Amino acid sequence: MKILLLGRGGQVGWELQRSLSVLGDLVALGHGTVEQCGDFTNPEGIAHTVRALRPDVIVNAAAHTAVDKAESEPELAHLLNAVTPGVLAREAKILGALLVHYSTDYVFDGSGDTPRDEQAFVAPLSVYGQTKLEGEQLIQSSGCRHMIFRTSWVYAARGGNFAKTILRLAQEREQLTVINDQFGAPTGADMLADVTAHAIRHAQQSSESLGLYHCVAGGETTWHAYAQYVLDTAKQLKPELALKVQTITPVATSAFPTPAKRPHNSRLSTHKLQANFGLQLPHWHHGVARMLQEIL
Ligand code: NDP
Repeated sequence: MKILLLGRGGQVGWELQRSLSVLGDLVALGHGTVEQCGDFTNPEGIAHTVRALRPDVIVNAAAHTAVDKAESEPELAHLLNAVTPGVLAREAKILGALLVHYSTDYVFDGSGDTPRDEQAFVAPLSVYGQTKLEGEQLIQSSGCRHMIFRTSWVYAARGGNFAKTILRLAQEREQLTVINDQFGAPTGADMLADVTAHAIRHAQQSSESLGLYHCVAGGETTWHAYAQYVLDTAKQLKPELALKVQTITPVATSAFPTPAKRPHNSRLSTHKLQANFGLQLPHWHHGVARMLQEIL
């Protein structure tokens, strides 16, 4: 099996390089790869790459993920999150290849307080959410064989992340202020990559596995409780860590105005994914504690 991975340098792309490598011949391309075009600002260059490589599976981990920046560069976000994924879908359809793509809880308006399933009404609040939704729709309407995984609050040991920022600030300041009215589940890029590899194997055997899935870690939290968990776990793992912080004050989202509006309720139901693939998604504590062990 030949697999083409796009966006190899991102959080999820990096972990996919590991998890997909055992499935077949993996060609992993990034933004600036020179041997083949991996640049999503050049949709026809990406189409040319697909035609030249003729993969059995295309995994797209590239995206415009800077949620606030997308508000001031909507054309670029649209190109990266919608137009080029649409071209990938077109090429996948022509080839008969499977396209795997990632989307986001930001396709929802975040109202209510229960987990949403894959059928729930979509109403994005931001340019990022809108363009990610358009990407989903272009893939779905192309008629290509596809799996789309909507996820949330992605972190990885590699690169910057919320936990690292909290740990740094906790060493610099006595008081931190963190939002406590957005609810979701921090989801490890490693888990997403492992689920993806498993799902691809499944899809090779049964076309019933195709479609749209919610894929997040188990449990739920707020950014405030997430920060508290990071510090409590860090203290246990490394008692000598010099933390200055005395209190983490919970505040409403309105205390931190940002260009992009974010959903309050990012809870996603993963029943469909767990049932269709026979998987059990671990509680978010497991992955975050493991990531902390790695970075401390
Ligand atoms: P990252 O921001 O870590 O990675 C994004 C990737 O896109 C990078 O490899 C980046 O490459 C690449 N990219 C950016 N611009 C271009 C371009 N012009 N051409 C080609 N590649 C480009 O994102 P994640 O790994 O966190 O996200 C993976 C998927 O998950 C995305 O679809 C995202 O929308 C989705 N998602 C992410 C969430 C999160 O919290 N991060 C939450 C919900 C969904 P380079 O580094 O070279 O610029």
